[in-house]
Amino acid sequence: MSNHAIIVEETGGPEVLKWKEVDVSAPGPGEVRIRQKAVGLNFIDTYFRSGLYPADAPFTPGNEGAGDVIAAGEGVTRFREGDRVAYTVGLGGYSEERNLPADRAVSIPDNVSYELAAVAMLKGLTARYLLRKTHDLKADDTVLFHAASGGVGLIAGQIAQHIGARIIGTASKEKHDLARHHGYDELIDYNNEDFAQRIKQLTNGDLCDVVYDSVGKTTLMKSLDCLRPMGLLVSFGQSSGKVDPLDLGLLSQKGSLFVTRPTLYNYIASRSSLEEATEEMFGWLGDGTVKIEIGQRFALKDAEKAHRALEGRETVGATVLLPDA
Ligand code: NDP
Repeated sequence: MSNHAIIVEETGGPEVLKWKEVDVSAPGPGEVRIRQKAVGLNFIDTYFRSGLYPADAPFTPGNEGAGDVIAAGEGVTRFREGDRVAYTVGLGGYSEERNLPADRAVSIPDNVSYELAAVAMLKGLTARYLLRKTHDLKADDTVLFHAASGGVGLIAGQIAQHIGARIIGTASKEKHDLARHHGYDELIDYNNEDFAQRIKQLTNGDLCDVVYDSVGKTTLMKSLDCLRPMGLLVSFGQSSGKVDPLDLGLLSQKGSLFVTRPTLYNYIASRSSLEEATEEMFGWLGDGTVKIEIGQRFALKDAEKAHRALEGRETVGATVLLPDA
């Protein structure tokens, strides 16, 4: 069967995403080959495409997906042909078929679809580690989560609601109802309101225990003003552009604040941490604690259109790219 993938030969705008016929070698030792059924679109894909994050060209973007094992390399005992698996690894996701280290794949439970499994791997596991590991959220915590109606944001709202914490979100006004239906207690229109002032009002001056900021350039400095003394700023993305350098002296002036810049892959580096994370996430999907909103679907070959929509702030929830569409 012929195999196609999106190839980036030179970094740049969405137009550099080209659909091409490619060869895939037989899976090497410890690898499985999978035929993909669903691929998740993530903001990180745009960072690699644009060159903000380095990658050796030519490359295929895409960090999460799900499909069927169609061959197993030497020494693979964990999976066999026909198994349904999902993964998150660096690059290679925008392809019909791909090879993957077997120890980075997990089995998909019968009650979870390929689409949900795909987007649970990067977006879901990110929301989980941010709220359970970077900070172990408690019922009496108040947190601010930027881009509440995004892929990671809608999952985070439901996890916070499950824990019983108060979660305040920022989003474009037209996306507020969706975030409210996914666990957010209050929403702020950060395009038209001073979100730090609103946080002050909403918390009667107590401010937040944690701020989760993936918007970056346009929000980060003001996010510091939303934190109570010794509060934690979690800077985990840059949808609006790379953040400016931070003067550490500001952290003492603003009340002995903590700042971290985490990435999912450190939190699931070992097999046991990957299994613990996916077991909890798939458990939440299975029992309805978390419902992942798939806001948009695109054919994988139309990845260019999908990138334009994501960067144009036109998407809500998760976006799935379909190899068979
Ligand atoms: P989203 O679905 O959240 O899309 C981004 C959203 O950000 C937009 O819909 C928009 O919502 C908001 N936004 C605000 N300003 C801008 C802007 N200038 N340009 C574009 N969007 C803007 O994306 P993902 O769920 O894929 O990812 C969310 C963030 O989490 C990303 O920054 C990503 O890099 C980060 N991430 C980090 C990980 C980590 O481990 N560190 C892992 C996974 C994701 P609105 O219109 O409401 O403002």
